[in-house]
Amino acid sequence: MSPAPLFAAIEAGGTKIVCGVGNSGGGSRQTARIETRDVEATVRDIIAFFATARERHGALSAIGIASFGPIDLDRASPTYGRITTTPKPGWQGADLPAALREALGIPVAIDTDVNAAALAEARLGAAQGCKSVAYITVGTGIGVGLLVNAQTVHGFGHPEAGHLLLRRHPGHADFAGICPFHHDCLEGLASGPAINAAWGGTLADLPYDHPAWTIEADYLGQLCATLILTVSPEHIVLGGGVMEQSRLLPMIRAEAALRLAGYAALWTNDALEKRLTSPGCAEPPGLVGAYLLAEAAFKPEHRRT
Ligand code: ADP
Ligand code: ZN
Repeated sequence: MSPAPLFAAIEAGGTKIVCGVGNSGGGSRQTARIETRDVEATVRDIIAFFATARERHGALSAIGIASFGPIDLDRASPTYGRITTTPKPGWQGADLPAALREALGIPVAIDTDVNAAALAEARLGAAQGCKSVAYITVGTGIGVGLLVNAQTVHGFGHPEAGHLLLRRHPGHADFAGICPFHHDCLEGLASGPAINAAWGGTLADLPYDHPAWTIEADYLGQLCATLILTVSPEHIVLGGGVMEQSRLLPMIRAEAALRLAGYAALWTNDALEKRLTSPGCAEPPGLVGAYLLAEAAFKPEHRRT
């Protein structure tokens, strides 16, 4: 029997890029963390890692990229695969897929980090067996990836539910919000840096009776209720640095139930417990998702349209 093919996976974030060589079934044989600097230096490091890794582990069959966005995901577009309106200096227009395809000469697939994570959680994580999954990351920004009918959602652009406009918590009425585009959208009110700007620390620094906890749970509960009402996912996974605070998850479940007010009848307390959870993948879900994207690019019969 020939050995399982090896793939290259890239989880590209605004502060770090995680590269891995392996496959979704067996996990990573080797990973590297590369700081996200200017495009040229960062891409050079990524290519060097994979060039060395393939000498050590053998040929790589395809590359999957799970990237911060926004990304042009319209296959018919001349700028397909490029990063679009990021405020990240120098990264607007960056074309990771082209640079990697040219350097390594193998097929490349790309999706958003959160879409890839939703796919990974559905196949190998907490949402196994589900065809419709939302993945929320609450970190430097807030991102929402969507898998619907087993396909990641693109459309005209891709969903950006991290920038939803919410009902403001009364205890937070004086905070302007920090989103450079919308000020007090969800990301502007509830991302890690927004918590810092409002309260002068992360949730890890704030006592349990500090209002920041209920306010954060309220906003994320509103997001979950909105996703339930718009997408009807079978499972919602919440990850990212802020969710490292494990007491937040039950608070978010309670706030989501409060907002739904019994209307989405299937979402009982029991359902919320089972279907609104932390990630379950053995490795970061974005990285696992990148392997899945690479594997789909390698097997044309599984290629998504
Ligand atoms: P990224 O968004 O770059 O992928 P993270 O998901 O780790 O990175 O998010 C970083 C943000 O999450 C920071 O703003 C930080 O305040 C917050 N954060 C990270 N770790 C924790 C923690 N253990 N508890 C509370 N907040 C955290
Ligand atoms: Zn915004």
